[in-house]
Amino acid sequence: MRIQVNLTEKLQNYVADVSLSEPPPLRELREETSLLAERNMQISPEQGQFLSVLLRAIGAKRTLEVGVFTGYSLLRTALTLPANGRVTACDISAKWAEVALGHCERAGVADKVDLRVGDARETLAALVQEEGAAGSFDFVFLDADKEGYETYYEYGLTLLRPGGLLVADNVLWSGLVIDESVQDDETRALRAFNTKLYEDDRVHLSMLPFADGLTLAVKR
Ligand code: SAH
Ligand code: CA
Repeated sequence: MRIQVNLTEKLQNYVADVSLSEPPPLRELREETSLLAERNMQISPEQGQFLSVLLRAIGAKRTLEVGVFTGYSLLRTALTLPANGRVTACDISAKWAEVALGHCERAGVADKVDLRVGDARETLAALVQEEGAAGSFDFVFLDADKEGYETYYEYGLTLLRPGGLLVADNVLWSGLVIDESVQDDETRALRAFNTKLYEDDRVHLSMLPFADGLTLAVKR
């Protein structure tokens, strides 16, 4: 077991050595966030890079992000999108939104960012009503409160075009999803979310045991 742990760590380091790259504005954002108590909410640089490759692979122009924190995934998205691309993002915290927007401004990509402060339930309910929004998004990233995932997923499916991609973060929840002694609201919500997607024939599914678990769902 011990050997396996070391091997996993060594392989992770190797993967970083031969593939990881992080543009300077993202490194600065990560270093600044590392001073905060909430720093563990941030996605890893590997995940950010994966997000960026996914966006490029599907040629994403219009994307949605639910759960911004200090803006790592948002900035990675804004840096990746073409000049005519746009990311609509939302967070319930005005404090985090301000930090995130500051980083996007410093990196010169704030013009691609539409950041909305409020409960995502309300923000998404309003967004789907907007002229031309439904069926127009190429990509959706879910990373806010886990109790909200099912609701955000439904709005996300409405907003995505056919063939559009939804990615949900933290679907393995540090492994707690398989520990039946854990019955808090977030863990239960993630179990229900994972089961729902597996049974949902509106999407093509792939769950990756990468980072804290990442589900990819392509709208049929
Ligand atoms: N994607 C971010 C991490 C997000 S952490 C990154 O790359 O760093 C989760 C975020 O979801 C927090 O900033 C929190 O304020 C936000 N959040 C929690 N509940 C929410 C809700 N109901 N609506 C919108 N955002 C919410
Ligand atoms: Ca997350």
